[in-house]
Amino acid sequence: MDKDIKSLYEKLLKHSKVDAVYAYAPGRINLIGEHTDYNGGYVFPAAINLGIMTSVSKNRTNQVKVMSLNMDNYFEFNLNTVNTVKYDGWQNYVGGVVSQLIKHGYSLEGFNLCITGNIPIGSGLSSSAALENSIVIALNKLFSLGLSKHEMVAISQKAEHDFVGVNCGIMDQYGSMFGKSDNAFLLQCSSLESTFLPVDFEEYELVLINSHVNHSLGDSEYNVRRKTCERVASKFGVKYVSELKSSVLLAKKSELTKNEFQRANFVIEENKRVLSAFTALQEKDLKTFGKLLYESHAGLQFEYEVSCKELDFLVESARSSGEVLGARMMGGGFGGCSLNLINKESKMFKESITRTYLKKFNKKLSFIAVKLDNGARIINDE
Ligand code: ADP
Ligand code: MG
Repeated sequence: MDKDIKSLYEKLLKHSKVDAVYAYAPGRINLIGEHTDYNGGYVFPAAINLGIMTSVSKNRTNQVKVMSLNMDNYFEFNLNTVNTVKYDGWQNYVGGVVSQLIKHGYSLEGFNLCITGNIPIGSGLSSSAALENSIVIALNKLFSLGLSKHEMVAISQKAEHDFVGVNCGIMDQYGSMFGKSDNAFLLQCSSLESTFLPVDFEEYELVLINSHVNHSLGDSEYNVRRKTCERVASKFGVKYVSELKSSVLLAKKSELTKNEFQRANFVIEENKRVLSAFTALQEKDLKTFGKLLYESHAGLQFEYEVSCKELDFLVESARSSGEVLGARMMGGGFGGCSLNLINKESKMFKESITRTYLKKFNKKLSFIAVKLDNGARIINDE
């Protein structure tokens, strides 16, 4: 845990009881493999050194009393009415996790919950999954529920589906739960088989550039993409589009709408890119890895159509700078961050892109150099 996170912990300590359970869940990046998770394909995520902390303590009532220091906001609800309360925005993530635990038959008592974190919210780094995971892991400990990490991941994901209304895949919650320091992991999203890979970018570093375009507008488009892919899969009689071969898809192109073909083709190609990227990193072939990042972005921009002009500009500027080995938009799309593999010695790039971005979009950029870190855990003894 880095210093910044330690100071958040101090903040949390001030707001919670001495006998509280303290939990931490990190955000995640995804090296490559966008929109492949809910299509049963491969992703290549890693937990990062930014995260969310929660403290929970029993309050001997039937009320759940919740404070988010980031939101500077408080709300409470009764455990008996968790499913009928009308929640607002961030409150859904809390209500969602509690509701899922109750639905799964776990008995809870009233508790106080305090939340704080340092993940830029709504930037594609999965502050939402970190929030869900940190709550479920804290409650699991507080009430000795005996949930496995896999079960907690499923609860976090279902909370997001049912309460927030985003039919997200498994990657975000999984990446935040299972991350390992200095490793990324290849995850097959239907079997949940995973393979860790120690990652060393040598003279390069991973830098996120936050476009400061909030991706919330993308939630409905995300669900539309998911439905389109499900429709294509059912036309081919398979569970997931990622199971299809390019040649099989091409042979039936005339039976698909233009959109259906493009979306499915992207998923198939992106899935291949994830495997190639894994091999490239295994072989320490950073050049090929970088090239795959640029190709992934082009697919997301032109075929899956989930980018936006700001992200396209960031990636194009990275490509033409000569200092960035690879770059692509990261996350569901329509905003958030671009992921860049930048030469550590690079000086010109950050300065010039900041200037041109401000001029073109009247927005400031921010840069976040990320380290690959451990996954969600109880931190009372750390
Ligand atoms: P991302 O997961 O990429 O950050 P999302 O839109 O999926 O973006 O999730 C962001 C939402 O998660 C926020 O709008 C808020 O509702 C909730 N959230 C994230 N962090 C916190 C926090 N520290 N306190 C309260 N709510 C949070
Ligand atoms: Mg999210």
